[in-house]
Amino acid sequence: MTRVVEREGPYHDPYEMFPEATQDQVGRALDDLPDFVFDPPSGKICMTFQSFLLQTPQHNILIDTCVGDHQNRREGLLYPKDRWLAEFRGAGVGFEDIDYVFCTHLHVDHVGWNTRLVDGRLVPTFPNAKYIIGRKEYEYWLEWNAEHGPASSGPSFEECVLPIVEAGKAVLVDDDFELNDLIHLSPAPGHTPGQCCANFNSNGTKAIFAGDALHHPLQVYEPDWSTVKCADRALAIVSRRKILEDCADTDTLLIPAHFPGTTVGKVITAGDEFAFRFFEG
Ligand SMILES: [Zn+2]
Repeated sequence: MTRVVEREGPYHDPYEMFPEATQDQVGRALDDLPDFVFDPPSGKICMTFQSFLLQTPQHNILIDTCVGDHQNRREGLLYPKDRWLAEFRGAGVGFEDIDYVFCTHLHVDHVGWNTRLVDGRLVPTFPNAKYIIGRKEYEYWLEWNAEHGPASSGPSFEECVLPIVEAGKAVLVDDDFELNDLIHLSPAPGHTPGQCCANFNSNGTKAIFAGDALHHPLQVYEPDWSTVKCADRALAIVSRRKILEDCADTDTLLIPAHFPGTTVGKVITAGDEFAFRFFEG
């Protein structure tokens, strides 16, 4: 697996992101975590925007596609996108080599590189890929957009999802879809109604690509904190706790979309609480 990073660094105020957070709880969790998860000068938690490139003997699979190179986005998303392109090329693949793209959910920062502008037209970035999209998630946003118009973050559904469907490249799947014998999906609703995890299992190596079921390692310590952006904050807690319980004290690697540093790690139990141990790669 190769991480293809678009942006990393301080991003959100933890108390705005997690309305239930207290200084005491944040401080206690930070004491057990490496320094790179938090930026004291700004008081912000650090978050990474990235894709995961999985190269299996049969397929090249790209999980989540960041914000992408689109201008019509809210200001905080208009950072330079050269890094993602350089890291993608640095992985030794071209756009045409990707066989599958999987979006854990359809928020603006998970669908961006699905498309790019070529000669004034939005086209699928990965011409030979099938784009795996949860049917429930797709139908929710189709209806939402019909009712509300473009999201405040920008028209990412119109620009990065609909062109894929119109080009015949989308495969709408159920939330327990098996992509191949290595990867199957499982539902993790709450942050969005149809969010899915991608579960990887090969020769005893297990990993859960958990999307935005967790945004930051603070939530391993405080699983009952949902973000202000979660569609169903109570359901997001249920999904988050299930993932943490599935991983706890096992060799399963937890790989949430936005965790900083090496991103990958293991969940352990400490007393009746969870803790996170980053992979030191
Ligand atoms: Zn996200």
